Amino acid sequence: MNNLSWPATILIGILLGLIAVAAGNGETRGDDPTASPSESPSASPGAGGGSGSDDSGGGSGSGGDSGSGSGSGDSDGGDSDGETNPDTGGDAEDYTVTLTFDDGPHPVYTPQVLDLLEKHDAIAVFCMVGQRVREHPEVVRQVVDAGHALCNHTDTHDEQLSARTREQIEQQIDETDEALDDAVGGDTEVRWFRQPGTYVEPQLAPILDERDLEPLDWTLDPRDWSRPGATSIVQDVLGHVEPGSVILLHDGGGDRSQTVAALDQILTGLDAAGYRYVLPGDS
Ligand SMILES: [Zn+2]
Repeated sequence: MNNLSWPATILIGILLGLIAVAAGNGETRGDDPTASPSESPSASPGAGGGSGSDDSGGGSGSGGDSGSGSGSGDSDGGDSDGETNPDTGGDAEDYTVTLTFDDGPHPVYTPQVLDLLEKHDAIAVFCMVGQRVREHPEVVRQVVDAGHALCNHTDTHDEQLSARTREQIEQQIDETDEALDDAVGGDTEVRWFRQPGTYVEPQLAPILDERDLEPLDWTLDPRDWSRPGATSIVQDVLGHVEPGSVILLHDGGGDRSQTVAALDQILTGLDAAGYRYVLPGDS
């Protein structure tokens, strides 16, 4: 047909255009944390996902710019790491990664995530929403019994937390803490707090300090909550992971079948690259 007669110059032009687009994507992605501490924008404004995540809310996210620095250096480092590392016994010590799962517990997806973590002998942090903890305390117990850590993610997944009064903020945190205590019999220490929709903002520091909670942000966000397809989630994580990465995924807040489908491949890839799974701050 006609395309056979297309001048070579046009084809080359198209190819260059595609390459430029690809390169552009690569770059913006890295810097993106600023744009969208997506965390949960599960908040995808009511419009899009609708049902998906109750996490409605303003989504767009304030400026969780804080931690961005670490997250962005991405591509180069991440790529080369995956290739160089393996099999060098000693070096493997340096290949650690932290897995975090937000917005649960969920009666269907959380157990599926737990099965995959067990299969890969991986440990993770689960950032839970208080009201969901009260609905599914048995799932919280499964998480703790499997040896994973808990993180406070507010009672209602409040994405406007910083706009609240101190009392309201404390209530969001304390009610979640109580729900977690009730679920696991109070014998598990909750060490971390993750703010919905953004990196933990500085004004929360005194409140967290009083409760011995440490802020937990992330450095690698494949935006699984937006359901970009399991392949995209896998490629994003394996293409950008680097030693020390804190990976943000979601086990609750909507249909997480893509995340579950991606997780087995992600863990297989991380295993093959020689990564060990550690809790935040450990190495
Ligand atoms: Zn969240």
